[in-house]
Amino acid sequence: DYGPAPEGNAEVKAWLAKHGQTFGHFIDGGFTKPAATFATKNPANGTDLAQITQGTAQDIDAAVAAARRAQPKWARLPAHARAKYLYALARLIQKHARLLAVLETMDNGKPIRESRDIDVPLVARHFYYHAGLAQLMDSELPGHAPHGVCGAVIPWNFPLLMLAWKVAPALAAGNTVVLKPAEYTPLTALLFAEITREAGLPKGVLNIVTGDGDTGAALVAHPGVDKIAFTGSTAVGKAIRRATAGTGKALTLELGGKSPYIVFDDADIDSAIEGLVDAIWFNQGQVCCAGSRLLVQEGIAPRFHEKLKRRMDGLRLGDPLDKCIDVGAVVDPIQLATITDMVNGSDGDIYHADTPIPAQGCFYPPTLITGLGTASRLMQEEIFGPVLVSMTFRTPAEAVDLANNTRYGLAASVWTENVNLALDIAPKIKAGVVWVNATNLFDAAAGFGGVRESGFGREGGWEGLMAYLKPVRSAKPLKPVAA
Ligand code: NAD
Repeated sequence: DYGPAPEGNAEVKAWLAKHGQTFGHFIDGGFTKPAATFATKNPANGTDLAQITQGTAQDIDAAVAAARRAQPKWARLPAHARAKYLYALARLIQKHARLLAVLETMDNGKPIRESRDIDVPLVARHFYYHAGLAQLMDSELPGHAPHGVCGAVIPWNFPLLMLAWKVAPALAAGNTVVLKPAEYTPLTALLFAEITREAGLPKGVLNIVTGDGDTGAALVAHPGVDKIAFTGSTAVGKAIRRATAGTGKALTLELGGKSPYIVFDDADIDSAIEGLVDAIWFNQGQVCCAGSRLLVQEGIAPRFHEKLKRRMDGLRLGDPLDKCIDVGAVVDPIQLATITDMVNGSDGDIYHADTPIPAQGCFYPPTLITGLGTASRLMQEEIFGPVLVSMTFRTPAEAVDLANNTRYGLAASVWTENVNLALDIAPKIKAGVVWVNATNLFDAAAGFGGVRESGFGREGGWEGLMAYLKPVRSAKPLKPVAA
């Protein structure tokens, strides 16, 4: 089961050809005529995959109007009827899993093993889980009502999964949605739009307007939107918080991170190294909760770094459609240039993995940087690439101080065989989640989100669903319409 994925490749080509490699928006149950398009590219080889329409304020108007028309009836469906649609979406995601996975890998550059075994299964699970929650809405939450129309703005690192994190709870709670995918990776969202038609989802319940940050800003500013859910950079999150201040719109923000990965001298070193490979080289390090800051106890630091370098040398970079690849392409030449500039501008000791790098495409080698000061730019700022910075500590108290020495607070990993130590320091770390002897554990049933400049609100679980509901004065259930 090795080598590129030729069948999936052909399926994707056929799907793109069916659309003439050109897409409009998905509004009120159908695709609009493409206009003012830009290319979405395959970052592994630079080829244009399709032309995408740049959404205007008028497009946002049309999408919000469609969502408003559809919302009252969608909200009044009995909970079990909404659940049926979410189950249908979950099943169809599984049915189209290969097409979705290959399309995601081509548009984003992530290894097919990740989109096939992680992204798409987590997406299906998210819809199954929220189908289950949707069923409970009438009986368990009669005192709550949906916000109305939700505007979702998502990033490019997990395009379909971030869509699922927004769309599944919004629909389960009885909201309708206008979603703005990231400009680099709109294709799986457009395929998902098609899947909603196959599921028979009523028109206007999900609308997708493609485009760049201007399109996102128009959605955020639209007076017909009742709640904004944003995942992306802290800078844009702050702009959105300013733009929604005083408007009465509900808001959740899932932003950046600089998550510490703390290894004590009694840790199981081999497991800690494998965990670290997952923490910082999964999805080329373009992960909000990436364990991008290694804090390693002084006594084991030289041995740990040496072992880590040998492990880095064994990572295979290349065609993301190749099933034996560990590290794929970063999303875009601009992102590649940002990573390159940040690393070249650092005064630390830089180690690039000794592994072949493809001559073409947006590839950056796994990189370890040591010898940086705590206040240095690379210690403080998110690189959002396959670059790990490392620093040593002596005592648990110092580890906690260093871990918290950041403006972010999304995630942290603690590695030790001493359960008392783990239980002592985990609550002292300011982060939305602290993994012990593990990393990157996600589940639809567990709320995920940050503190400090990593944002606020949770996605997943009951908490995540509650973000799509507001309390109402009367606890009387809404009168249902026929399913
Ligand atoms: P970004 O903030 O540049 O863009 C995110 C989205 O916002 C895109 O769709 C973009 O078009 C849109 N946008 C840009 N400017 C806007 C504006 N003024 N108003 C409204 N929308 C606007 O982020 P990115 O580079 O796409 O994604 C990477 C960032 O996302 C990283 O910082 C990463 O940590 C973060 N992220 C966070 C989480 C989380 O759950 N906390 C998950 C994934 C990614």
